[in-house]
Amino acid sequence: TDRPVSRALLSVSDKTGIVDFARALADLGVALVSTGGTYKTLKDAGLAVTEVAELTGFPEMMDGRVKTLHPKVHGGLLAIRGNEEHEAAARTHGILPIDLLVVNLYPFEATIARGASWEDTIENIDIGGPAMIRAASKNHDAVTVVVDGADYAPVLEAMRANKGATTLDLRRRLAAKAYARTAAYDAAISTWLFEQLGETATPSRAFGGTLAQGLRYGENPHQWAAFYKTAQGANPRPGVATIRQLQGKELSYNNLNDTDAAYELVGEFDPARTAAVAIIKHANPCGVAEGPDLLAAYEKALACDPVSAFGGIVALNRTLDAEAAKKIVEIFTEVIIAPDATEEAKAIVAAKKNLRLLLAGGLPDPKAPGVIVKSVAGGLLVQSRDNAVVDAMDLKVVTKRAPTAQELTDLRFAFRVAKHVKSNTIVYAKDGATVGIGAGQMSRVDSARIAARKAQDAAEAGGWAVPLTKGSVVASDAFFPFADGLLAAVEAGATAVIQPGGSMRDQEVIDAADAAGLAMVFTGVRHFRH
Ligand code: 5GP
Repeated sequence: TDRPVSRALLSVSDKTGIVDFARALADLGVALVSTGGTYKTLKDAGLAVTEVAELTGFPEMMDGRVKTLHPKVHGGLLAIRGNEEHEAAARTHGILPIDLLVVNLYPFEATIARGASWEDTIENIDIGGPAMIRAASKNHDAVTVVVDGADYAPVLEAMRANKGATTLDLRRRLAAKAYARTAAYDAAISTWLFEQLGETATPSRAFGGTLAQGLRYGENPHQWAAFYKTAQGANPRPGVATIRQLQGKELSYNNLNDTDAAYELVGEFDPARTAAVAIIKHANPCGVAEGPDLLAAYEKALACDPVSAFGGIVALNRTLDAEAAKKIVEIFTEVIIAPDATEEAKAIVAAKKNLRLLLAGGLPDPKAPGVIVKSVAGGLLVQSRDNAVVDAMDLKVVTKRAPTAQELTDLRFAFRVAKHVKSNTIVYAKDGATVGIGAGQMSRVDSARIAARKAQDAAEAGGWAVPLTKGSVVASDAFFPFADGLLAAVEAGATAVIQPGGSMRDQEVIDAADAAGLAMVFTGVRHFRH
C-alpha cells in the first residue's frame, strides 16, 4: 500500500511555500510538472520543471480556462496502477502516471470578499483545479493529493521517513480533506450566485443538506422553517433524522427541536439495564425517570411536574408497549418517540388521531462523537457534541461524609439528566426519578429555589405530606459560585450533591456541605447547555 512518488503535478494560485516544497520533492527524485504561473515560479527559482503544455502537447488557452483538462493529465491521475487494461491504454496514448497532485484553487472566496466585478468573479471560478483534485482523490489508492500548504511539511516528512513513498492511510486522509475543499469551494460559488439573484442560500444550497420536510412555520408563526438532513454517512445516528412518523399531525419546528432534546436524553439510559422515560417541554425535561418497565418509569416521570407535562413530548428508551401507551394517552401529549412500538401500542395510540407517534429505529449513543452547529448573526458556531457520560467520570468525594450506595446511584442519575437541561441547571432526584428540575435561570440559586418550589407544588397537587425533595440528592451542571445555591438545596431537603467543582469558593461550599451533614462529589466535568 506504500506508493513511491515519481512524478508530481503542481498547479497553485497561492504560491506560498511552493518553491521550498518543490525543491524538497526534487531532492527526493520526484519529476516536476507545472502549469504556466507555477512553472515560471519554479523555473525562476532554478528548479528543473516541465510545463504542462509540453506534457499534453496542447497550449494553455482561453485565458487559462483550459490548461490541464486533458487526457494526459486526467489519465495520469486516474489510471489504476497494476490494471493491465489501464496501463495498456496509458502506453498506447503516451500517458505518464502522476503520483502527487499539489493544487490550491483560484481564490474565489477572496475575490468576492474584495467585491470584484461580475466578470472578474466568474473568471475566478477554478475548473481544472477541482477536476484534478477530484480525480486524484478518487484514485487515492495510488495518488497523493495536497490542497493545503499546511500539508507540505507533513507530506515531506512522511516521504522522507518512508523512502520517498506515502502510506495509504495518509493518502486517504488527504483525499477526504480534498473533497471537503472542493465541496466548500462549490458551496461558496453557489451561495454567491443565489445572493446575486436575491435569494437565500438555504442549507441544501449552501451545505449540501437535503430537504427532509418543509415546516408550516418556525419557532413563531411569522418565521418560515424547514428541516434539512445533513450528510449522515453509513450509520446515521438514531433520532429525528431517522424517524418514521406513524400517525398524528404534521411535525412542527418546535416539535422537532423538543423531540430531539427528549430523545438525546433517553439515549443516556441503556435499555438493557433499565427502562427510561423523559417528558420534555420547550427542550427542557419536566420529568425523567427509570424503572423496571416503561409504565413505571412514565408514572414516576409524570409525578415530578404533572402540570408542565401537559402538551409535552414523551421519549422512551425501549419499544413502546401497550401498558405505557395506555397511560401516556390519558393526558394531552404532542409527540411520542421510541425506538419501536408493539402492534398493540400502535393501536392504542391510533385512538388519538392528532398525537404524533415517531419510531426512530434505534437509540442515540451518548458517547458517540458528533458535531453541534448553532447559527449566530452571519455565521455558524461549531463544537463537538457533549459526549461525556457520568459513568466514565472520576468522582471525587470532597466532604467528610461519603454518599451511601443509594445516594451515589441517584447522584449519577441526576447528573446524567442535568446534562440535558438548559443552564443554570439544578436537578433533584430520588429513587431513579427527578423530583424537581430548575432550568434556564440566570442564577444558580434561583434554579435551586424554583426546582424546590415545583417539588412543593407537586406534593400539594398529589396530596403528599412532604415534597419529594426531602431526602433527595441534587445535581448542578456547573460549580456553585457561592454557598447560597447549595444552602437552598439543603433547605429543600437534599442529602447529597454532585457538581463539577472548580469554583474559587469551593472550600466555602464544601464547608457549608459539611456543616449540613451533606455528602458531596465533584465530577471535574461541566455540562453547560445554552
Ligand atoms: P498557474 O499560476 O500555475 O498558471 O495556475 C494555477 C491555477 O490554475 C491553480 O489554482 C489551478 O487550480 C488552476 N488550474 C489548473 N488547471 C486549470 C484548468 O484547466 N482550468 C482552470 N480554469 N484552472 C486551472
